[in-house]
Amino acid sequence: MIDSVLKKSRSGAELSRGELVSLLSITDTAELRSLYDCAYFVKERHVGKRTYFRGIIECGNICVKDCYYCGIRKSNNEVERFLMDEDEIFREAIWTYEADYGSCVIQSAERTDNGYIAMIERVVSRIKEATEGKLGITLSLGEQTEKTYRRWFKAGAHRYLLRVETTNPALYARIHPADHLLEERKKCLAALRRVGYQVGTGMMIGLPGQTVEDLANDVLYLKEIDIDMVGMGPYIPHRGTPMGWALPPYSDEQKAASLQLGLKMIAVTRIVLRDINIAAATALQALEYTGREQGLRCGANVIMPNVTAAQFRQQYQLYDDKPCTDENSLMCRGCLSGRIRGIGETVGFGEWGDSPHFKKRSATKGAGDE
Ligand code: SAH
Repeated sequence: MIDSVLKKSRSGAELSRGELVSLLSITDTAELRSLYDCAYFVKERHVGKRTYFRGIIECGNICVKDCYYCGIRKSNNEVERFLMDEDEIFREAIWTYEADYGSCVIQSAERTDNGYIAMIERVVSRIKEATEGKLGITLSLGEQTEKTYRRWFKAGAHRYLLRVETTNPALYARIHPADHLLEERKKCLAALRRVGYQVGTGMMIGLPGQTVEDLANDVLYLKEIDIDMVGMGPYIPHRGTPMGWALPPYSDEQKAASLQLGLKMIAVTRIVLRDINIAAATALQALEYTGREQGLRCGANVIMPNVTAAQFRQQYQLYDDKPCTDENSLMCRGCLSGRIRGIGETVGFGEWGDSPHFKKRSATKGAGDE
């Protein structure tokens, strides 16, 4: 059964929802191998054996949201709050440029005040100017108005990551306070597309109560909204959150199962969406040291090395045991590039690394069309 589904997908045929569910339900080692090999085949064919780095700058943890899973939620009083100043963000972006990473991601907890919006706008323009437009700039700053998205796009950002978290409305409602709305998030994704960004979204995988049917629907949603990039990763409990209080820390077996589900989702997403960029999330590495490289072998082609100054890393713990919080950026560069060469891939240093999917779409419609 699995063999025939994989054969069908190698030939380029579309898979049904039921077939996605059967792939996500695999537990047999040989079948898993076949699934991952099939995803790697599709990856090689559509995006090549090339990994792109996006240096991630986690620039602040002051948040207006109170998501029940997230370690830096507004109500977690144990977190020391910080916001990098503009010069610090700029310095880290320039570090990323000089390390030849090609792109940076500016991520923070969610803030919507005017001072913050203007600060991001200024720093994006400065980075754009100082690197003569050569450093790609991705933002991951949560739900904002279309006007704000437009300001930041005009300043020089061209990609935006906003995870939908889950497309199951009942599950979304269970993991968020009542005023955090799935519909609003979907509207933001549509607004980002209208403004002209390359849009990325993704899910948390392995949420309590989430089924493989939910995950299959999530993958179909990614296809439906014609996404350019995906960043998804395993859910990992954080001890300072309502969802973390309800769950004991993961045992080794739970970690292994969660990693496996995360890898299966990457593989299935690659098989279904083919020519998009897929990031191997840092959360994979929290479950197993080589988790991100395993993600690359299962179909991912982007890694987001942390370039945040070491003194801020402890304060950006979205989940427990986040890796590399005691390392500096140079250590990450060295150890990651070595590990990627170790699996026979090259790093796309100095390139933006847009997904072929985005390039095709913008060639037919023109990037930034309204
Ligand atoms: N505020 C921004 C980005 C910061 S959070 C935004 O909303 O887009 C980035 C992502 O971290 C979230 O989208 C969520 O998917 C993930 N995350 C938060 N808590 C997590 C946890 N406990 N386990 C795994 N991922 C988590």
